[in-house]
Amino acid sequence: MTNIIAVLNQKGGVGKTTSTINLAAYLVKSGKSVLIVDFDPQGNATSGLGLDGGPVKTSYEVMLGLDKAESAILVSPDSGISLIPANNNLAAAELELKDQPNRESMLKNMLENLKYDYILIDCPPALSLLTINALTASNWLLIPVQAEFFAMEGIGQLMEVFQRVKQTTNTNLNLLGVLVTMYDGRTSLAEQVVDELSKYFGDVVFKTYIPRNVRLAEAPSYGKPISEHDKWSKGARAYKQFTKEVIKRVEG
Ligand code: ATP
Ligand code: MG
Repeated sequence: MTNIIAVLNQKGGVGKTTSTINLAAYLVKSGKSVLIVDFDPQGNATSGLGLDGGPVKTSYEVMLGLDKAESAILVSPDSGISLIPANNNLAAAELELKDQPNRESMLKNMLENLKYDYILIDCPPALSLLTINALTASNWLLIPVQAEFFAMEGIGQLMEVFQRVKQTTNTNLNLLGVLVTMYDGRTSLAEQVVDELSKYFGDVVFKTYIPRNVRLAEAPSYGKPISEHDKWSKGARAYKQFTKEVIKRVEG
């Protein structure tokens, strides 16, 4: 069975793409086959794996049925992660989907015949038709939350959308967990945020917190996950540990 995880928080810059790329990298290191679907017009997962630049088929063409998913897949040579790229074309998809009869299930249909252990969908920072498509295609929702003031902002709304999709277009959807990112244990603010998250989500919060770590921030500029950039960094060790928690929750 393919485990499909939507990585989503409508807040911008909370670590969705960083978590997608590095979770994918350590899943591959654990022997899993992994596909990332870049589902953000910013294309950060694509450039972060060094797979931007060429003329490519993207998640946009695939979703609209103009190209087959298989024909759009690229493989990152450093990490072995497979990727369906995205670029700015995807920004237009929202409007083009609006009048489609299956507008919420377009991505689900595109992923149906792909055989991977894990498919990770890197979502844009929005609660839009694109993100509804991501949630409809997934069996798991992973929410990265930055350990900063305003972290909880929008979480209620995100959970409402999650519940709505679960009750309508996708009864197979479950909450995988909440990942604390950019955690700085020296500040009391970070601890306050973690306390607040634990009160709201309980055990759903992953035990591993991702620290603020400059090696994580610079890795995408080399087109590599942290596992290939600096595997002994604090950030690398955290994502490795987090990946173990994910495998345990998903595979039991
Ligand atoms: P968007 O909403 O725009 O898609 P995002 O949620 O995908 O953003 P990222 O792009 O992963 O967030 O991260 C935002 C910025 O923070 C990036 O510059 C990234 O390199 C940096 N960053 C992410 N995680 C960490 C970390 N743990 N330590 C230091 N920098 C980080
Ligand atoms: Mg992103």
